[in-house]
Amino acid sequence: MILLRTPSEVSDLVDKQRQSGRQIGFVPTMGALHNGHISLVKESVNQNDFTIVSVFVNPTQFNNADDLINYPRTEEADIALLESSGCDAVFFPAARDIYPAGEKSENFEFHGLENRMEGKFRPGHFDGVATVVKRFLEIIRPHRAYFGEKDFQQLRIIQELVKDLELEVEIVPVPIIREADGLAMSSRNTRLTQAMREESVKILKILQEAGVFMKNHTIEETKKFVEERFGNTELKLEYFEIADEETLQPVSDKESSGKLRGFVAAFAGEIRLIDNISLN
Ligand code: AMP
Repeated sequence: MILLRTPSEVSDLVDKQRQSGRQIGFVPTMGALHNGHISLVKESVNQNDFTIVSVFVNPTQFNNADDLINYPRTEEADIALLESSGCDAVFFPAARDIYPAGEKSENFEFHGLENRMEGKFRPGHFDGVATVVKRFLEIIRPHRAYFGEKDFQQLRIIQELVKDLELEVEIVPVPIIREADGLAMSSRNTRLTQAMREESVKILKILQEAGVFMKNHTIEETKKFVEERFGNTELKLEYFEIADEETLQPVSDKESSGKLRGFVAAFAGEIRLIDNISLN
């Protein structure tokens, strides 16, 4: 596996791969890698001739300074895991190479996809994500890029970014990978206390119960049910939303809508966790 540190090293390598007619897959990550990330890498390895993973804790997508400082950084373990997953190259850029003009986001408009849920509770987050992804896509020019459904709103926003900017890259969604007990894998899980780790299993349980409950109840009743269920846990619910998968707009009538998904953000102690589930 090749280690890359600068954009020019990446461009040289990518040019050679493209000249040999190779298809390039790209997996952007913030490191502290786990099997959720590795599932994206394996999908890319299966579908492309050459897979590049980036590891970069992107400062502009953090709206909370402590979260940025405390974000786990595990470079050596990440390299070992990537080696064993069939990844061909890993790119560890310096912030100054990603943000030559200073660590600032561009302002984007995603036609309403960005206004609720993560966008509402993490102001500026998606501008930061879109800025860094756009920059990586410019440097790497992959044929395909892989994004997890764990961050479903992010995935939809990146699909919109690529459409709006007419970028020639296929965005490939990858399903959520979970721990054996159902907790969605996340780099932040390593920061959970033992007690909160046990409590956090309830997130998926409640989402699954909501799916059953909604069969015989309205959206409004289902939202209330979920709020009450979280009220009986040690988790602090930030939002629960039932939204259309395409538009991400909240839905009030389940019969008149397309594919519905339940989205949740909740605090387990200091740690903010997100998850989502298909509801029909
Ligand atoms: P992150 O390092 O958290 O920025 O995540 C990098 C990519 O991995 C994003 O596309 C995430 O959606 C994806 N990802 C993170 N956790 C999971 C998971 N548990 N299952 C599937 N994809 C994931």
